[in-house]
Amino acid sequence: MKRILSVLLVVCLLVPLTTTAFAKKSCACGHSPVIYVRGFGGNLTNTETGRQVYPPTKEDFDQAMPQIVGGALALLGRIYPLFCTLGMKAAMSLLGQIACDETGEPLYPTGAGGLLPNEDVHGKYLHGTSDYVFDYDWRLDPFDTAEKLHRYVERVKALTGHEKVSFVVHSMGSVMLATYMYLYGYADIDAAVCLAPAFGGVSILGSLLSGEADISDKSAELTMFLLSYPELTDARLQKLVRIGGKLGLFRPILRWLQGALDCQFERAFRECLHPLFATMPGIWSFVSDEYYERAKSFSFRDDTQYAALIRRIDRYHYGVQTHLKQLLLDARKQGVRLAIVSGYGISSMPLSRSHTQQSDFLITTACSSLGAVCPPFGQALPKSHVQSVEDGHNHIAPDGTVDASACTFPERTWFIRSLMHFDFPYENTAFIRWLVEQPAETTVCTNPQYPQFMQQDGHKLYPIAASE
Ligand SMILES: [Zn+2]
Ligand SMILES: [Zn+2]
Repeated sequence: MKRILSVLLVVCLLVPLTTTAFAKKSCACGHSPVIYVRGFGGNLTNTETGRQVYPPTKEDFDQAMPQIVGGALALLGRIYPLFCTLGMKAAMSLLGQIACDETGEPLYPTGAGGLLPNEDVHGKYLHGTSDYVFDYDWRLDPFDTAEKLHRYVERVKALTGHEKVSFVVHSMGSVMLATYMYLYGYADIDAAVCLAPAFGGVSILGSLLSGEADISDKSAELTMFLLSYPELTDARLQKLVRIGGKLGLFRPILRWLQGALDCQFERAFRECLHPLFATMPGIWSFVSDEYYERAKSFSFRDDTQYAALIRRIDRYHYGVQTHLKQLLLDARKQGVRLAIVSGYGISSMPLSRSHTQQSDFLITTACSSLGAVCPPFGQALPKSHVQSVEDGHNHIAPDGTVDASACTFPERTWFIRSLMHFDFPYENTAFIRWLVEQPAETTVCTNPQYPQFMQQDGHKLYPIAASE
């Protein structure tokens, strides 16, 4: 009896606590709580051991240093097999902890994405562009992450008393948002601001996982890439790259690196890249349809061993990625205030077939903007070019390098020139907040301060003038 009484007492004490914490409240402030979903590569810590899984620690680097130095010397001496052995050893000591098993489950799980917020901080923009930050383990199947994101959204709604939340997503965050939409629909979403989204994949990954890395004859592309790289601002260095390119100095270096790739890529792939990356479901969300089946055949020679993993990655690819346009069109139809911000004006890395395309360094502009028409990097649209879709507004960049009329959402897609992929979430806070807060009718023509094509200077954006 005493025991029953004490249990009852505990229950009575707990009930008011839980009901006050999550009492149904309602807020009419008009500002949906904003959740930021970051891109690939956030810090990962093993929940059980407390050890940092990613990025590699100083101790990891110290341990790998002899192999890094030895590998560099072997490459210089063109002893490719030794270079490969040492390089792989170094990569495994630096990144071995991020590996997944053959079903796509991490060997060292982190529990990221499971932590739910406890405070109502909406409207405060505590994180610059958002009120909350959803952290997740980027190695995981996006379906698992989307489930966690759903729990997170439910908690934020309960805490703030709002029926909907707004999202700001960057790069891989767009994969999580798209999977969330696929699984849970649009009813919970107010605004969705997608920064440099990876909706259509990242060509360099498709190319690597298909075993197609070819750099031997990319000397001109490498010169162009280096010159378009926004961090290379030193005029003397730029001059050196230009002269080096003209004299063909990159050609022997590339041929020499290609030598290493030709004789060792297969081995490096099987023994290092495959266990580290090809078994990571998250990575496969970056493989575009153009490469997907080929990359699967190259990566998984034994279908039965990887059957569970293949089922997982197919679910994202054929459920979400290949239906993305429709998903987003539906979202818009259901009232989601969707906005896309793409980068352009940087040449793609000379490693994949898309190497001549405009990009934000990592993702091609055509992909991240969902369909912009861009001439090859370094060229402008021909004078005779007629806007792809004539809708009564001008959607051609003043510098003549992008035609945005062919985008899925030409009125709601903004472009920032020479902004690196990785700098997107941290720059231009005012612009992103403006996007989050704008009504659905806002377009690239609404605010002369934020037209369709912009360039940034410090943290400020300014419209691109026709003469630039
Ligand atoms: Zn409110
Ligand atoms: Zn238009």
